[in-house]
Amino acid sequence: MAGKNPKEALFLCALQNAVKHGGVPQTGAVVGMVMSAHPEFRPRAKEVAVLAKEVIADVAALTPEERVVKLQSLAPDMYEALFAKHEHRRVLPDLEGAEHGVVMRFAPNPSGPLHIGHARAAVLNDAYVKQYGGRYILRIEDTDPKRVDPEAYDMVKEDIAWLRLGITETVTQSERLPLYYDLCRKLIERGGAYVCICNNERFRELKQAKIACPCRDQPVEKNLGLWERMLDHTFNEGEATVRIKTDLNNPDPAMRDFPAFRILDSPPHPRVIAHVYPLMNFSVVADDHLLGVTHVIRGKDHIANTRRQRYIYDHFGWKVPVYRHYGRMGIEGVVLSTSQMRFGINEGKYSGWDDIRLGTLRALARRGISPDAVKNAVLAIGIGDTDISFSWDNLYAENKKIVDPVANRYFFVPDPFTANIDGALHRTAHAMLHPGDTARGSRILVFEGSVELPRGDITHDTAMVRLKDLFNVTISWDGSIPSFAYAGDSLAEARAAKAHIIQWLPAQGAVPCTLLTQEGEITGVCEPLVTKELGNVVQFERVGFARIDAVGNDGVTAYFTHK
Ligand code: GLU
Repeated sequence: MAGKNPKEALFLCALQNAVKHGGVPQTGAVVGMVMSAHPEFRPRAKEVAVLAKEVIADVAALTPEERVVKLQSLAPDMYEALFAKHEHRRVLPDLEGAEHGVVMRFAPNPSGPLHIGHARAAVLNDAYVKQYGGRYILRIEDTDPKRVDPEAYDMVKEDIAWLRLGITETVTQSERLPLYYDLCRKLIERGGAYVCICNNERFRELKQAKIACPCRDQPVEKNLGLWERMLDHTFNEGEATVRIKTDLNNPDPAMRDFPAFRILDSPPHPRVIAHVYPLMNFSVVADDHLLGVTHVIRGKDHIANTRRQRYIYDHFGWKVPVYRHYGRMGIEGVVLSTSQMRFGINEGKYSGWDDIRLGTLRALARRGISPDAVKNAVLAIGIGDTDISFSWDNLYAENKKIVDPVANRYFFVPDPFTANIDGALHRTAHAMLHPGDTARGSRILVFEGSVELPRGDITHDTAMVRLKDLFNVTISWDGSIPSFAYAGDSLAEARAAKAHIIQWLPAQGAVPCTLLTQEGEITGVCEPLVTKELGNVVQFERVGFARIDAVGNDGVTAYFTHK
């Protein structure tokens, strides 16, 4: 590792750490790296710790791009090392031109939290960066103030942290407006763009007729002057637009001289004061180029944008990244539209962005779906361009692989009723916390004569049931009133009688439990030990997996995960 003196070594380590993980490096991590590479500094630990704080502040003051440039020039080996450490997990088809590492990005709009649709782009790009090594940029695309929710900045970052993506740096487009303005001027100078002051309706008519608008052929100087007037507020909203010169004969009217910058004063942007904003195609190209993006994996719904974006690359003479467009993915059974979600939350129809009827990642997390299950399910779908529908069953199967070995088993009795069992006295049942892991031990359920049983399992045609881990019970009916009697301990007899083996709870001490499912609430009772599982996924035997969401004086609230 490079670095002749402690300060230099610390600076390079902090820089490398910041390029790799984004954000501000932790002092401990930086000091640890330096000390293991330079044992000779160990006697100077105190001094090194003080210096570490200084250099971290220096690194924190650099922009992500400056960090990359500095690391490349000061310690090329440390920059290279970031690319060398790839996992070689070939789960996806090869990407052309990726042999020496990739730079990829995930570019959500901060209009709400991330949902499963976003997870596909986020996870596929992440997997490729892991496969080939390289940088993975989170780019917050917030240059359309109409589509910015100030709270979404943090939500998106939280969702990404939950997915444990290997993001190496984060950029926010609203902080980069001067860069886009500068490039716009350059593009005008190159004759690739012009300022159009036609009214929108007029422009549209001309465009449909494949006719150039009067602004298209005005000289560069005139365009530069008009551009300045856009920036200095001489023009108001709707009065001027920068357009990219494309091909007016393009069969698709949407390709013809599409807009690149517009004026917008309302709504105001929550983060910057601006009058002129780049449109998505321009800011995406500018940043893909400036950040050195090599490969772009995105949905087929962006194919037209890719075509538009190529015009901008061609005007600048820039190298075009490698694109892959995956097919559309229908997702049924949950609400995904941000506006519909927001409306429902404001109306009180949904409890929040993590309401389990929504398709957000936070709703999945609340239900006990693991981020790795989301990743595996999305990777299994892959980057094929055929349209598919998202398979919940597959997501649940992936999640089950993860939660089944760890989830403790408990009894939850839905819609319970209390039954006295004749012929049995005090008994103690030992029920295993996990059938595959005896070391975890068992729950002890003490029978004292009466139990809570699931009403749905006690029907007129049920002659016998076995209370799991306890004994068999026969049922006899007097009209609509059942009575219950002890019928021996033999599991073999229960099997021979084809008795259902059902969950039960001692009537004394059963804890009220509400199980929330996407279809509605199930009320019941559960074992007292469930109160110790807050935040965990458990398996309610015969019911399914559930995440314990809240434990209070009035009992337990759990969210149904899947069967
Ligand atoms: N911000 C764009 C979106 O979320 C993505 C842009 C891109 O992938 O190029 O649709």
